[in-house]
Amino acid sequence: MQASAETKASPSFAIAPALLAWYDAHARSLPWRAPPGAPPPDPYRVWLSEVMLQQTTVAAVGPYFERFTRRWPTIADLAAADEAEIMAAWAGLGYYSRARNLVACAREVVRLGGFPSTEADLRKLPGLGAYTAAAVAAIAFGEAAVVVDANVERVVARLFAITDPLPGARPAIREATATITPPVRAGDFAQAMMDLGATVCTVRSPRCLLCPLRGACRAEAAGIAEALPAKTPKKPKPTRKGRVFWIEREGAVWFVRREAKGMLGGMRALPDDGWHARADGHGEGPVAGPWRSGGVVRHGFTHFDLELQLMLCDAAEMVHQLPPEEGEFWPLVRLDEAGLPTVFAKAARLALSERS
Ligand code: SF4
Repeated sequence: MQASAETKASPSFAIAPALLAWYDAHARSLPWRAPPGAPPPDPYRVWLSEVMLQQTTVAAVGPYFERFTRRWPTIADLAAADEAEIMAAWAGLGYYSRARNLVACAREVVRLGGFPSTEADLRKLPGLGAYTAAAVAAIAFGEAAVVVDANVERVVARLFAITDPLPGARPAIREATATITPPVRAGDFAQAMMDLGATVCTVRSPRCLLCPLRGACRAEAAGIAEALPAKTPKKPKPTRKGRVFWIEREGAVWFVRREAKGMLGGMRALPDDGWHARADGHGEGPVAGPWRSGGVVRHGFTHFDLELQLMLCDAAEMVHQLPPEEGEFWPLVRLDEAGLPTVFAKAARLALSERS
């Protein structure tokens, strides 16, 4: 089946009205949203939520969004905040380049005197990709921008029976989404598509009998809904290995600040060896040993899995070798406030269980 040929003829069924009527009754209530048909929400809240939601679930984002907006209620507050505090508050959400871009973007918006109101101008802000610019333009400013996230991708691939696999099918899906995006209530339409994908047109076992778009859905008619969107098989992820060091003194643990560029850049962390393991598990740590193994920490990143050997230092007098300008001793009783990325929080939990 030719994806592009299919998308040229959109179903005669009135998709946008049917979907908006469903949304009026079934919209998810989320802290960054305005109710269906209400005036648009504050662009700051829309932008912040959309950045947080990239690669992250609604359930995980909720508490972070509440904390951020309580602490920095306006974009001017966020722009004036200390970058290290924002990075620490972001800890656990992952994809830390988003937090760095957040600060840069907030400062640029304040410099401009407010958010630009068009997709094209939003796209020029630091860190705003095509998806986020379209989502903010549609939801906060009502522009009929074409908003395609993973949920929308799934709904549209099914509606139009686009059988080419992702990611190659993305242009056809986008083209098809454009044919059904209405000129009014574009923000509600985008959010309705997201909600339909999240609650009805789910990855497995889509609930087609409850779907307001069933009358237009080609995949459902053909009995292939659950198989779409097709995906090009992923290559298996490589595993990287390394060592992470736990150095404790008088109820405090040694943390470093990671280099600004690169993985988890700018975050507070335990020292490590750059994740290039030495086969013998020994060798140099941040201080001369002796070291002993405290077990293995495993963590999955998008492009690789990581296995870190936790190394504990039993020679308390060695900690005086640590250069004070390279890190700090952080009190164990305040570990929760350190803002550690998840992989280092896992290592800390393992270290604490190992020594108790
Ligand atoms: S009918 Fe089924 S497959 Fe089609 S859009 Fe609705 S839930 Fe998805």
